[in-house]
Amino acid sequence: MLIILNNNPFSHDAESLCRVFFPFEKIKVVQKTIESENIVLETKIEKNNANVSLKFFDKTQHGSAPITPNGDNALEMSALIYRILSGVLNYYPQWGVLTGVRPAKLMHRIVNDSSIEEAKKYFTDKLLVSNKKTELALSVMNRENRIIALSRNNSFSLYISIPFCPSRCSYCSFVSHSVEQAKKLIEPYVDLLVKEIEKTARISNELGLRLETVYFGGGTPTTLSAQQLNRIICAVQSSFDFSTVSEFTVEAGRPDTVTKEKLEALKALGVSRISINAQTFNDEILNNIGRRHTVKMTLDAFEIARKCGFDNINTDLIAGLPGESFESFRNSVDSAVELSCENVTVHTLSLKTASRLAKSADEFSFAQSEIVNQMVDYSNEKLKSCDYQPYYMYRQSKTAGNLENVGWCKNNLDCRYNVYMMDETHSVFAIGAGAVTKLRDPNSTHIERVYNFKYPYEYIDRFSEILDRKKSILDFYNNILV
Ligand code: SF4
Repeated sequence: MLIILNNNPFSHDAESLCRVFFPFEKIKVVQKTIESENIVLETKIEKNNANVSLKFFDKTQHGSAPITPNGDNALEMSALIYRILSGVLNYYPQWGVLTGVRPAKLMHRIVNDSSIEEAKKYFTDKLLVSNKKTELALSVMNRENRIIALSRNNSFSLYISIPFCPSRCSYCSFVSHSVEQAKKLIEPYVDLLVKEIEKTARISNELGLRLETVYFGGGTPTTLSAQQLNRIICAVQSSFDFSTVSEFTVEAGRPDTVTKEKLEALKALGVSRISINAQTFNDEILNNIGRRHTVKMTLDAFEIARKCGFDNINTDLIAGLPGESFESFRNSVDSAVELSCENVTVHTLSLKTASRLAKSADEFSFAQSEIVNQMVDYSNEKLKSCDYQPYYMYRQSKTAGNLENVGWCKNNLDCRYNVYMMDETHSVFAIGAGAVTKLRDPNSTHIERVYNFKYPYEYIDRFSEILDRKKSILDFYNNILV
C-alpha cells in the first residue's frame, strides 16, 4: 500500500490508521506518486480543507472535510481517512481512529481536564469510537481509579521474568525459550536472578520505597521445579520488605506445568494469585496452536489449585484463534465462568511479527472480523451478567477486528499489578531476561526505562552489565523528590 502525503505532516497518524484496516500490507509513505500500487491513499490539505482520495484496486473514493484553524488537524484528517476507508471496505473498526494502547488512561486524562460527558463526547464524536467501547473505557477507568488511589508517592511493584516454557505456542511473540532448547540455561539463570533480586532490593531499601505488588511472569514460571521456585521466592521475601505487599501473583500459565508439589510450595510461600491459562476449552484448537495440553489438563490444574487453597485464579482466553468458531469460543467463556475463575482475561488474537502464526500467514487468515466482534461482545455480556467487572484493558496492534484485551474480575479481586502496569501509576522494577524496569516520577508523568538483555544466554553472559545498570534507579530517584 502507498500513502501519499501531499503538503501535510500527518504521516504517523495516517499510517497507524491504515494499519488498522490493512494489518498485513507493507505500507510505504511518500511525498508524491512514484509508482503504482493496488491500494493508494492520498492526503492533501487545501484551502482549509482536508482531502483524501483512495484507490482500492478498481474502486476509487474521494472526500473532503473542513479543518479547524488551530484545531487538531491530524485528528480531523484521521477521521476523514476512517470514513473513506470504512465506506469502501464496509468495515467499521469499533475503536474508530483511536490507535493507542491505553483507552482508559486517555479517558481518565480527558475526564480530569473536563467532565465525564465531555470525555464521552470526545470519544464518540472526535475519535469515532462506538458507544459500546466508550462505555467500556469509562467502566475500566472507574474501576482502575479505586486501585490507583491505593498507590503512594513512594510505592513500586516488582516483576520477575522467567522466560522459559515447556514448548513454544504458535502465536507467541515473547522471548520465551522452550525447555527443550534451553534446559541447561535454567540453573545458571536462577543463580543470577537471585543476585539481581538482592541487588535491586538493596537499592529499594536504601531509597525507602514501599513494595505494593509482586508478579512472576514470563514465559511460564511454573516451568521451573518447586525447588527453583522456592529459591527465587525466598530470595525475594528475604531481600525486600514484604510487610506492605498486598498481592503476589505467579503465572502458572501452562496447565502442563502444574503439579501439586509446585502449587503447594507456592501456597506455602504466600503466593496469593495464580494464573492458569486455558486459552480455549477446545482440544482441537489447542493442538492447532501448539499448546501441548488438553482441556482435561486445564480442569485438573484448577482442581489441584483449589485443593491447595488458591481462591484467586485468573484464566486467559483468546478470541479469534485460527479455526475457532463462535460456538466454540462461547463454550470457552461459559467454561471459565463455570470454573468460577475470579479473574478472566479475554484477549483478542494479535499476530505479532515474531510469532510462527504470522510467519505462515498464507496458511492463516483472521477469523472474520465480524465473528471476532461477536465473540468479544459475547464475552462482555456473559461476564457482566455473571457479576464480573472490567478492571483493566489494553490494545495491541495487529489484533483481529482491531479489538481490545480486557481483564475481568469478580468479588473485588482486581489484579492490582495489572492496573499499575497499564496505568503506569508507579515504578515497576523488573528483574530477569527480557525485563524492562519502568521508573515513574511521582511528581509528573515522566517515565524512564532501564532495559535488561532480552535472551537468557545474553543475560547470563553479560550479567555484570545488568548489575551496573541498576545505578540508573538510584540516579533517577536521587534526582526527584519522593
Ligand atoms: S505459554 Fe505463553 S509465553 Fe510460553 S510459549 Fe505459550 S504464549 Fe509464549
